[in-house]
Amino acid sequence: MKLADRVRDFTESVIRETTRLANAHGAVNLGQGMPDFDPPPEMLAAAERALAGGYNQYAVTWGIAPLRQAIAAKAREFNGIDCDPDAHLTVCCGATESMIAAMLAIVDPGDEVVVFQPYYENYGPDAQLSGAKPVWVDLHPPEWSIDPDELRRAFSKKTRAIIVNTPNNPTGKVFTRAELELIAGLCREFDCYAITDEIYEHIIYCDTPHISLASLPGMADRTITISGLSKTFSCTGWRLGYCLASPALTGAIRKVHDFLTVGAPHPLQVAATVAYSLPREYYDKLTVDYRRRRGILLDYLREAGFQFHDPDGAYYVMADAADLGCAHDVEFVKMLVSQVGIAGVPGSSFYAPPERGRSKVRFMWAKKDDTLHEFGKRLRKWRTQ
Ligand code: GLN
Repeated sequence: MKLADRVRDFTESVIRETTRLANAHGAVNLGQGMPDFDPPPEMLAAAERALAGGYNQYAVTWGIAPLRQAIAAKAREFNGIDCDPDAHLTVCCGATESMIAAMLAIVDPGDEVVVFQPYYENYGPDAQLSGAKPVWVDLHPPEWSIDPDELRRAFSKKTRAIIVNTPNNPTGKVFTRAELELIAGLCREFDCYAITDEIYEHIIYCDTPHISLASLPGMADRTITISGLSKTFSCTGWRLGYCLASPALTGAIRKVHDFLTVGAPHPLQVAATVAYSLPREYYDKLTVDYRRRRGILLDYLREAGFQFHDPDGAYYVMADAADLGCAHDVEFVKMLVSQVGIAGVPGSSFYAPPERGRSKVRFMWAKKDDTLHEFGKRLRKWRTQ
């Protein structure tokens, strides 16, 4: 029996497949981007209270009012975006649903969408599912820089949107104001939208602050800003994210969201509201902890001979393993998992065509120090035996 054409040209997530492989071999999994530590205790207690307190049926489709109010306050203060919780916000099941809802709301089949690569793997299938044709623009190693001429050449009359993920997965790049102004200028000139993925907005190691594209002149009405709680509050399994956009765009996104999922989990939305009331110190500690974890992992990788540019944000590093004999990333990762007992994500799943990532592996450090040291111990043993 025939399947739909739209599912023909992409595979299941390589990131999640790596997790299944790692689990089967008992490997230390620095592949899929998820912490092995808990969300803040205040959130867990609030979730228990919500479950026992009757919040177990559908919430209002676009998110409970207190959560939207909390997100709007955060958007105004932290992102510098004017945000009316009733008109501008749709709470979705993670940034993942937010992205596909945004794409389905604005892209017609055949439209072009500009995507930087290496790219977070979801953007490929998102383009396929919405009928968009991705137009890839390189982030150039070692510093993952943008070539302005190359970026301009990617835009045309057919361009409907550009996807901007900052801080970036998988490179760790934090887009500068100048780069975002360049992108904003092209969006205005070619009259197209921007969809941003800002899920790592609170995880930054450099002096460049996180800047939201929607806060730049003329961008509020043409940008869909996506973020969520997964990474900031270590709750990737709660599936809570949101789209922040103009009322017209929000109307379209809410329609898609309604028929994709009806809504995000109600009791967890109640608990998420508590997360946004955590004090400044929570975010300071988040940075200190992530900086330490990053240092632990990067030292082990460097010692083992991986080549990489120190990431400025998020919690991933795209490491080149050519010096370690990596000729085919998927085979190399299988060997790491089965023989060394460690896992990363094959680099090819972040590139189009995939061959461009053959010598690379993505590792992540949202793990307890002990987990990172166990990874390092196994890596060192392999390299010195
Ligand atoms: N964003 C995370 C990553 O890149 C998790 C992906 C996922 O499994 N949804 O690993």
